[in-house]
Amino acid sequence: MTSTESGYPDIELLVDGRRIGAATRETAAVENPATREVIGRVPLATADDIADALAGAGRAAEAWRDTSPHHRAAILMRAAQLLRDRREPIARAMTLENGKPYGDSLGEVDYTADIIDSLATEAPRAYGVVLPTAGDEGRTLVVTEPVGPVAAFTPWNYPLTVPGRKVAAALAAGCTVVIKPAEETPASAVALADALVDAGLPDGVLSMLFGDPAQISETLIASPVIRKVSFTGSIGVGKHLARLAGDAAKPVMLELGGHAPVLVFDDVDVDEVARQALGAKLHNTGQSCGSPVRFYVHQAVHAQFVARFGELLAAARTGDGFDETTEMGPLANSRRFDAMAPFVQDAVERGATVVAGGAGDDSVGYYWPATLLADVPDDALVMHDEPFGPIAATSVFTDEDEVVARANALPYGLAAYVFTKDADRALRLPRRLDVGMVSVNRFGVGARDTFFGGRKESGFGSEGGPEAVHEYLVKKLISQG
Ligand code: NAD
Repeated sequence: MTSTESGYPDIELLVDGRRIGAATRETAAVENPATREVIGRVPLATADDIADALAGAGRAAEAWRDTSPHHRAAILMRAAQLLRDRREPIARAMTLENGKPYGDSLGEVDYTADIIDSLATEAPRAYGVVLPTAGDEGRTLVVTEPVGPVAAFTPWNYPLTVPGRKVAAALAAGCTVVIKPAEETPASAVALADALVDAGLPDGVLSMLFGDPAQISETLIASPVIRKVSFTGSIGVGKHLARLAGDAAKPVMLELGGHAPVLVFDDVDVDEVARQALGAKLHNTGQSCGSPVRFYVHQAVHAQFVARFGELLAAARTGDGFDETTEMGPLANSRRFDAMAPFVQDAVERGATVVAGGAGDDSVGYYWPATLLADVPDDALVMHDEPFGPIAATSVFTDEDEVVARANALPYGLAAYVFTKDADRALRLPRRLDVGMVSVNRFGVGARDTFFGGRKESGFGSEGGPEAVHEYLVKKLISQG
């Protein structure tokens, strides 16, 4: 099929077990970034809807907390299986609303289901401790309990995986959730809610709102019902929500932007690194917090790397995600498209060379070609602001200490990549890089069962692994005489 044969599903809010469709609410358009056509309408929550979602989360909290963790896990695993059963229609809607290639959308459905399974298995492992006490002091227990109702906010770049793992971790821990996914990509998030409800999630345990982000976040975070705030998205919005949470003395979990450095030493197989870098840069059209951006390449191999990587990027096919020959879809929205040209212009003005791509065309969809900028000075915009698009920049280095200092120089601290055949260096470098996740001789960070998170302004806390469930647990000391 093509993007124009839409078949995009109707979008409904989920408010304390009630579905609210577009007919009875103000709506916003959902656009297909491959064609710029309006493919659907998302209903916008009213103040009453937000209040009802909060009431549901508060009312359902105690019963969900007291539901056996095995039963919570079983619901999550049933929902994961329903996502797998529905993978084709969900992936179709995802490609329509986000633009990513259909095969990647299928992969995102499968990956999300696997992550939900993984988090479900953590539900019964919320162990506490029993402390030995001397003499007649009785028993001392430290138990874990769910933190309480969670307000969650998720972006459009992984429109199923990010809500999926956030919601699954909180539900596994025994928390109820009110989530506001991105208005640009609502169908993927609604598919998650549908799967959970169909799997047996009780009313009120999950509410899903779309609407005015500021109104929803201010209302939810200020409400005494909400006990934890969890956000994935930009650093600016993350800081804003953390300030709101600070005013209400509520804990926050933030997964924000990244600006991943790639350290390519002179002992590598240049062709192999360039080939891997191509896949990593094209993935999700560069709209990933872990996307490689700053390629620091050793002087001895820089020219060779730039030539090969540039050749591969220039040959990459950009197009509609339903076209089987497409290797990279459009940018997901006009904001990302508009953000690209200034990165290129600024780098060129500062002396960089455009080796591949460099200019987009939004006449049909938000298409920006895979772009390589070479010899980019450190003060260029692209070397310190997250492009969140298919732009890679290279710079020469000669010395390990120098390149580590440059890699660590930004306020970001999410992901970094090291390519070297030297075993000592491969062990040493990950320790020296001030980030939450490092991959050596491969791209990609995170896996279904692992910690996933950043440092510095990239945020704190984990989106994955057992740590993700612990984000939604608190300790309680119980002393018994
Ligand atoms: P944005 O900050 O405008 O929006 C990000 C998300 O936050 C959206 O879903 C939006 O609805 C929501 N949001 C915005 N204002 C809000 C508010 N006041 N309260 C609650 N939610 C609010 O960014 P954008 O233009 O959508 O994306 C661009 C930037 O976002 C990128 O440069 C990148 O740094 C960052 N981003 C990061 C991730 C990630 O995985 N960490 C994902 C998507 C975007």
